[in-house]
Formats: sequence, structure tokens, C-alpha cells
Amino acid sequence: MPVRHRLGGLHLNVLTDGVYFQDAGAVFGVVPRILWERLGIELNSRYQMALGLNSLLVSSQGKTILIETGVGEKERPLGQTERPGGVTLLDELAAVGVAPEDVDVVINTHLHADHCGWNTKQTGDGWAPTFPRARYLVQRGEYDACMHPNERTRATYFAENVQPVADTGQLELIDGETNVTDEITIIPTHGHTRDHASVILSSGGESAVYIGDMIQHPVQLERAPWVSSFDIYPLEAMETKKAVVQRAIDERQLVVAVHCAFPGLGYMTETADGKRKWVPVEPSG
Ligand SMILES: [Zn+2]
Repeated sequence: MPVRHRLGGLHLNVLTDGVYFQDAGAVFGVVPRILWERLGIELNSRYQMALGLNSLLVSSQGKTILIETGVGEKERPLGQTERPGGVTLLDELAAVGVAPEDVDVVINTHLHADHCGWNTKQTGDGWAPTFPRARYLVQRGEYDACMHPNERTRATYFAENVQPVADTGQLELIDGETNVTDEITIIPTHGHTRDHASVILSSGGESAVYIGDMIQHPVQLERAPWVSSFDIYPLEAMETKKAVVQRAIDERQLVVAVHCAFPGLGYMTETADGKRKWVPVEPSG
């Protein structure tokens, strides 16, 4: 079920496309299992851990904006999606009274398969944009990486998540920092992919950052060198993460994390001895 959280004058709706199971060793990269297993993370019989698929829906200056579109209908062996009751992101949108044709803007932080799946939907003979009126905002370099994947990245970059959107003229390639409205700005956060982006939301003196795939588990925000093996540029990812966490602390930004347990809302704080700590936030309509 969607949850609502107030950010100044904005109402953030956190929607889910289900739970995504990923290999836990891959999530923690070079961090040995004897360290991360102390966190008590539950693994399934395939040694996978549950990740959230948290999208954000927000209305700003007359525009209905959807950030991130989950796994959609294109499941491949990379991870498995579970959807209790069969509820998808589209059902969640309907639950908050938004039809696909109501969406004005779709933002993808990057084009890995678990972030842009509902960009398109299956039709009789192929794929078509799920949101027929929307502009889809994607960093130009990320689009290039998706359309020309290499041996390592091709398991997660599917042309059918973007090509149909390009074909209808709905794809808008952006370069670096881009204002969507006065309250919503896309910023480059390199590392997970070269052109990975995050989204800053600001209203009434409050601010939030939607961090995309910067981390999959909150401990990775607390410990700078805990970098996932999904990151294509791990050292860059670490530096980006440090800067984003510092800003989140300094500006008391709400952090919205796509892959943390639903709804993935929290604050980063600094303890008296200088340690970083994730403090989950209960949504407040
Ligand atoms: Zn992801």
C-alpha cells in the first residue's frame, strides 16, 4: 500500500513494485560475509536478500512526476521479484488515484532493469510507453550506456525499456543537473553507473534526496567503503556517497532509498564519536 509523507508543501507518495531478491554477496561486494552477516539479514534458499523497489510520486507546480519505475514485466534471471497479492507499481498508482495518462514526467535515476521496467508495457507485438503523455527524463550518457551495453552490463540494460519511448518522441535526454520544476532537480551522482543521477526535492525550507541505486542497504550509507559489486565505478561511487551523506547530514535532508525496506525513508545523523547513523522515518501523511 502506498504511503504519504509531507515535505514542506509537497506530498511524497512512496509506491512499491514489490520486493526484489538479489544475491547478498553481490550487494556487499568485497565486504566479507562474516562482517555483513552480523546485521542479521535474512537470506532465501538462493542466498538472496530482499530489496525494496520504492518509487516516488509527487505533484509539483501542476506536474505529476514519477521517479523510478521498478522491474515491470521484464523479469530475467538476474533477480526475482515477489509481489504480495500480485500488486504492481501500476496498481499502487491507481490506489492514489493516478492513471498512466495522468503522469507528466518520468525520471529514471539510471536504466538498470530494476529501475525502469514500467517505462514500457507489453503490447500485442512488442512494447509501448506505459505513460502515454509523459516526458521521460534520462541522462544522455546513461542512455548511451544502455543502448551500447558491454559484456558486463548487458544483463541489466534492456533496449525495450527505452527504445519504444524514444520512438514516440517522449524520451528527453538531459545533461547533468536539470530542473524539472522549481522544487525538483535532477543531479548527477556518478559511480553506480557513470551517469547515475539522484533527485533533490525542496519545499518550504525542507529537502529530500532520492538516491537511486547509490546503496541497497542502509549500512552502506553508514560505512563509506561498503560499496556494492553492482557499482560499475566503485571508488567514484564511494566518493559520491560520502558527499551525498555529508550534505544529507548538514542540510537535514530526508533520504529516500529505492532499495531499502519499504518505504525506505530515513535521516542520516552523526553520533558524538563521528559515526554515521541511519535513522528510519515513519511516514507522516
Ligand atoms: Zn537497483
